This record gives sequence, structure tokens and C-alpha cells, in this order.
Amino acid sequence: MSVTSEEPWVGLRIIAPPSSSSIPSATARCRCGRSRHARGKERVLVLIEAYTVHRDTCTGQSETPETTRSAA
Ligand SMILES: [Zn+2]
Repeated sequence: MSVTSEEPWVGLRIIAPPSSSSIPSATARCRCGRSRHARGKERVLVLIEAYTVHRDTCTGQSETPETTRSAA
């Protein structure tokens, strides 16, 4: 068991400023590498719901190849 600084955190992080005029944001990261970010109350709620559903069905494997990654 080793912990390195390269290891990203996994889970759900929600940033909700106490001020009602501020825009909340949330980031969800799964152990499979899936990462999502949302900004705005409604989008944050959708992200939480989507992450919860995904987490229940996640196999821990990368479900989608990084198609946007350019070949090096
Ligand atoms: Zn996953």
C-alpha cells in the first residue's frame, strides 16, 4: 500500500459558498478514472445523481477510452 502525490482523490467534492449569490460547483472522480465537473446548483445536482448511479455500476475499469488524447 503506497500513497503518492500522483494518486488523485476519488469521490465527490462539492464547493458551496455560504453566500447565496455565489455559484456552487462540484467535482466527481471515480476510481475508474472518470471525472466530471459541474458548476451551478442545478448542474451540481445532476452531477451528484449521475455520479451516484455510475458508482453503483462502475466496474473500476476505464469505461471509455480517451478519444481526445492525441497520440504521442
Ligand atoms: Zn467509475
